[in-house]
Amino acid sequence: MSRSVLVTGGNRGIGLAVARALAEAGDKVAVTYRSGEPPADLFGVRCDVTDSAAVAAAVEEVAVQQGPVEVLVSNAGITRDGLLLSMAEEDFSSVIDTNLLGAVRVAQQVIPGMLKARWGRLIFISSTTGTAGAPGQTNYAASKAALIGLARSLAKELGPRNITANAVSPGIIATDMAEGVTGNRMDQLLSETSLKRVGTPEEVAAVVRFLASDGSSYVTGANVPVTGGGGVGC
Ligand code: NDP
Repeated sequence: MSRSVLVTGGNRGIGLAVARALAEAGDKVAVTYRSGEPPADLFGVRCDVTDSAAVAAAVEEVAVQQGPVEVLVSNAGITRDGLLLSMAEEDFSSVIDTNLLGAVRVAQQVIPGMLKARWGRLIFISSTTGTAGAPGQTNYAASKAALIGLARSLAKELGPRNITANAVSPGIIATDMAEGVTGNRMDQLLSETSLKRVGTPEEVAAVVRFLASDGSSYVTGANVPVTGGGGVGC
């Protein structure tokens, strides 16, 4: 099985682990990167997901290199934490622009090819914060909750064409993004998990790999938690 896969924000963290897991499974994998250099072992396309023209150009470049995207892992994301009362509007809008609208822009570019192929996998990296909420993360939580609604609605729009759409909601995962979570907040998050530890990017990648596989053919509109038991039931 070798499909054309695109992972946004695949140059580091969870995206890189996902890209490597799918490449290891035999897929042709492209990653977008925004800054620096892409990983040497993967096909990298420079792309800022807040720029519609850059997204369109990147998806086209991937199609030329490895065929129209059949599996999209929409992973690029940022945080701009702060209490809502003192949050600048730009801190709210930039998180929505990247995390939610970025995913929308990429999905709009890849869906036509999936419709033509009558097959596709759309996987959106959300967060347990999207359903559980978190102090100081109203912007991030709103963007991540919206991704779940986006995935579920796309599942309904595109299901008749054999395209699945799912969300994956990690809990606290050891990446650059989680480095800012320390002290009491980290203790609290760990105490809420059943496994009493942070997760690894590879543990998220294993779930994404399943959702991208033929084994998940009857799974769509799901929000799959990868949280070590944290946020269960939210
Ligand atoms: P990192 O901060 O390690 O990586 C974020 C990735 O997103 C980078 O590749 C970054 O590119 C890319 N990115 C950010 N903004 C843009 C943009 N405008 N255009 C293109 N790419 C962009 O984070 P993680 O690996 O931890 O997070 C990956 C996803 O998982 C995110 O959506 C995050 O919200 C989610 N998540 C993470 C959790 C965690 O605990 N780590 C928990 C729950 C969800 P660049 O290198 O150029 O900055």
